[in-house]
Amino acid sequence: MKVLVINSGSSSLKYQLYDMRDESVLAKGLVERIGMDSSILNHKPTGGQEVTEVKEILEHNTAIRKVLSMLTDPEHGVIKSIDEIQAVGHRVVHGGESFKASALVDDPAKTEIRRLFDLAPLHNPAAMMGITATENNMPGVPQVVVFDTAFHQAMPEKAYLYGIPKVLYNKYKVRRYGFHGTSHEYVSHIAAEFLGQAIEDLKIITCHIGNGGSLTAVQGGHSIDTSMGMTPLEGLMMGTRSGDLDPAIVPFVMNKEELTVNEVNSMLNKHSGLLAISGISSDMREITDGMANGDANCTLAFEMYEYRLRKYIGSYAAAMNGVDVIVFTAGVGENSVVVREKVCENLTYLGVEIDDALNAIRSGEPRLISTSQSKVKVLVIPTNEELVIARDTYRIVSELK
Ligand code: ADP
Repeated sequence: MKVLVINSGSSSLKYQLYDMRDESVLAKGLVERIGMDSSILNHKPTGGQEVTEVKEILEHNTAIRKVLSMLTDPEHGVIKSIDEIQAVGHRVVHGGESFKASALVDDPAKTEIRRLFDLAPLHNPAAMMGITATENNMPGVPQVVVFDTAFHQAMPEKAYLYGIPKVLYNKYKVRRYGFHGTSHEYVSHIAAEFLGQAIEDLKIITCHIGNGGSLTAVQGGHSIDTSMGMTPLEGLMMGTRSGDLDPAIVPFVMNKEELTVNEVNSMLNKHSGLLAISGISSDMREITDGMANGDANCTLAFEMYEYRLRKYIGSYAAAMNGVDVIVFTAGVGENSVVVREKVCENLTYLGVEIDDALNAIRSGEPRLISTSQSKVKVLVIPTNEELVIARDTYRIVSELK
């Protein structure tokens, strides 16, 4: 079965075409600047020549049509006809409390995803555009939705409720949902497999740190707590997001600076974090380069980032009464030797001991970076959210037959 995986943003659409016989990627690509002038379609057939086209793509419907025509293009394509695509899997950010697992796209599922627009106003409408565009261009092809929140639905009440009037939960479902669930679930399973241990017996802290970042305490294979909250703003300090702050700062700043709700949201989501503190960049590579060149603001941004990450690791070790495995994943987690080194340097009280030579190795494979004496195993595991979406889609669609 060939499965097309789609990750649809408000002005972008990422895709990967999988052959599920061997889980190989036949092609992948990205459409950017949908609805703006000069949209860009970048297409990479596996083993073939990468192509970039600049064209007018005004909406997601056209984006999907262009992607399908690229996938079947005589020169750059990887399939003869779109009929070869037997299922489509979509990443959907927010599944609320309704979706505890991936689901087939049917009318009730679509109604529910629309109902959740309120909780993820930037993300869920974009995913819905991708679903509708797929339906229009590939009528009758089954679609599956895979949610960032689903893995975290196992969290107990004490972890997901906020200490605010319960009526806000009852009326509006204000609670912690958590995100990056497909990644946390994937890397925790790979970790157990890599170590040859049953996931049921392990206490794992997964650190998904990219542009956005979240930590999860995975106990017995279940998410028991995670650092992102009702929205992806809570928790770690990130590239452009503030992470945790005293909630009273929000009305205080709004009042002093006469900011609107949108303005304060934009400040906390887009103009904070590493970018705000360094004054230079949200990209960890530029922060560590700046630090190496003696830039005081970059050094402070790095220290704040690392300190918060380490505090969360400590709190999740406390939540689980111990930790057997720490996993680093995503852009920063997989690539930044210095972030891993500095975080682990101050976790010796937990029995963490990093092997500097192992930490410095670069490879796209899961690997151990702790010493043989380390009480806690520390792993670097490349995440693969698209593969999880392809697998769930394949499983759910295969069960239909
Ligand atoms: P997203 O959260 O958008 O999916 P990624 O997981 O791809 O992002 O992570 C992107 C981030 O990873 C970049 O902003 C950059 O800070 C970081 N990153 C990528 N490569 C490196 C590297 N070699 N060293 C340090 N950080 C890196």
